Amino acid sequence: VLRRFTFLATLASCVCASAQSADAPMQLASDVYVIRGAYPVGSQPDGNSIVILAREGIIVVDTGRHVSHTQQIVDFLKLGERPLVAIVNTHWHLDHIGGNVMLRAQFPGVQVYASDALRTAQTGFLASYRQQLEQAIAEAKPTDDVAPWRTEIALIDAGPKLLPDHVIDRSRNVTLAGRRLAVHLEKNAATDGDVWLEDPTTGILLAGDLVTLPVPFLDTACASGWETALDHLAATRFDTLVPGHGVPMDRERFDLYRTAFHALRACAASDQATYACAKEWREGTGDLIALDDIPRVPAMIDYYVKALRAPARYCTKMK
Ligand SMILES: [Zn+2]
Repeated sequence: VLRRFTFLATLASCVCASAQSADAPMQLASDVYVIRGAYPVGSQPDGNSIVILAREGIIVVDTGRHVSHTQQIVDFLKLGERPLVAIVNTHWHLDHIGGNVMLRAQFPGVQVYASDALRTAQTGFLASYRQQLEQAIAEAKPTDDVAPWRTEIALIDAGPKLLPDHVIDRSRNVTLAGRRLAVHLEKNAATDGDVWLEDPTTGILLAGDLVTLPVPFLDTACASGWETALDHLAATRFDTLVPGHGVPMDRERFDLYRTAFHALRACAASDQATYACAKEWREGTGDLIALDDIPRVPAMIDYYVKALRAPARYCTKMK
């Protein structure tokens, strides 16, 4: 039924194999952990969350969408003594900011950092998504489970509780909880305000949804700007890159991803069949796509190639 939300089609597009659910937090460095976002079939995804145990407190990058995901962050934070000091949202999609509400309630005083793109989305994309959810509930059959839709509406209605305390309006170095981080802002990429972070202490790069698996989630993307953002990532020194969705990767695998992204755009610009683009994407990404996800890749690529072939909707704010 969620297929009706066509702009979120990947988010619910498949009836095939399921991605595995939550694992234990994955340790990337002595003080950096990833809480993997799940993406079960028939459900909306959670983005990956990153926890940095900084000297003067804890930083969480992206807070998930579902309570089950954010609860994992809370449980993990409660294991330690340090306070949660800062949240950074890489972009405004609900699977990356939804947990702001719960974390703010549980850790009063935490400061949220993000671009200001959510404000525009609240009156645009999210407002129309909310309407579609309302309509779906109104037209639901008795067998439909409308609870997740109501939860989505409640999340959208949390409004100000999702918004940043501090707007990231340009790329610069910041010190959060005693940790020096390079914060970068991309204006027209996966969204109209994508933040990515370099942690020079560990050589870890947090890419947000500039890197997503099993496919690039192009729902609100300016594809040309996204490719430029990938160039910026490529020009950066890092040992490990944490994508918004999918497993952390080394430099070599990121290069595969970037090359495959370029090839996907080229395929979309050609008259090749979408299944050929899907095949090329799968082969180009090597072992980056989880085995469980492989069956749903062709439908997702089909959807996004068609989106790429439609007039670009999200490049208009390009200056
Ligand atoms: Zn995401």
